Amino acid sequence: MRSIASLTLALAAGATAVDFSRSHDTNSSVWSSAAELPAAASHSRSPISRFWNRPSKRQGGWSPPSDLATALQEVWDHCMSTYSDFWGFKNYGWDQIHATEGKINVCVRWESDSAVTEAQRAQVASVYAAQYQKWFSWLYDYDNFPYSNIDVNIVGWAVKDQSLLQGSTKGITVYTDTDADGVPQCSEACGRFFHQDGNYNSCPGGADAHYDHSLWLTDGFSGGAGGDWGQRIGREYFIGALGSSDVHILLHEMGHTFGLDDFYDWLPTGQTNFIMNAGSATVITDFDGWMLRNWWNGLSRYRGWQ
Ligand SMILES: [Zn+2]
Repeated sequence: MRSIASLTLALAAGATAVDFSRSHDTNSSVWSSAAELPAAASHSRSPISRFWNRPSKRQGGWSPPSDLATALQEVWDHCMSTYSDFWGFKNYGWDQIHATEGKINVCVRWESDSAVTEAQRAQVASVYAAQYQKWFSWLYDYDNFPYSNIDVNIVGWAVKDQSLLQGSTKGITVYTDTDADGVPQCSEACGRFFHQDGNYNSCPGGADAHYDHSLWLTDGFSGGAGGDWGQRIGREYFIGALGSSDVHILLHEMGHTFGLDDFYDWLPTGQTNFIMNAGSATVITDFDGWMLRNWWNGLSRYRGWQ
């Protein structure tokens, strides 16, 4: 089911938005149970801690741990049979990083009347990038993944009024555009969602000034939403979580940007606690990491990227 947010985008652009998050993502009760989970409850084996056990030769093909293989196959089959245009859709996060050769430029939609300091913006940028790295650490040096680092940067902020951005705005593009509902949005001329052909000629700074997707920080928004257009979470939630190592709703929504599915109506064999099962884990688990790897394994071969 699409969220209002993605529908707004789709209507404004006349483009097709894919919102992989289900409407349940916006139900705060889904997430409340995760707040009580110990942070490391389901984080048994991080990719870092296993690094030294890896074979020196890059691993090719598909060889997940045997205790995860059945569940991973079930998830892959479920996505293939339920996504409307699994292979034909060309704006997954994967397509985005392929186009940029390993970079993600993000624009923040600040849906709030609150001011935001320069220091807070720097923190938003670093915490946001750190969350993405938790996913990408599963890909570096795995199965011919071509990037050893995905550079994640917040390159723009859309606000109602420029005065909300306190301190220096050097290094970011400030947008005061609005969408069809009058809500601040980063310029359509510079957004990949609106220019999936990669033609940014109408963007004042050209392709160098483009952004790949958006981070919507919305006052009073409960839960989250995620898709090819980016991620949406509550402003209060994210600002309150800037000191946290794992911003679990954001981690979940980033998974959607890279095609991962929700699990509100079924669970794969033997798997109950993982970040993509909303509210069941506060960290990316081995199972989440292998689901991401499964996407790389399948999509990279289908697209001819390896
Ligand atoms: Zn979701």
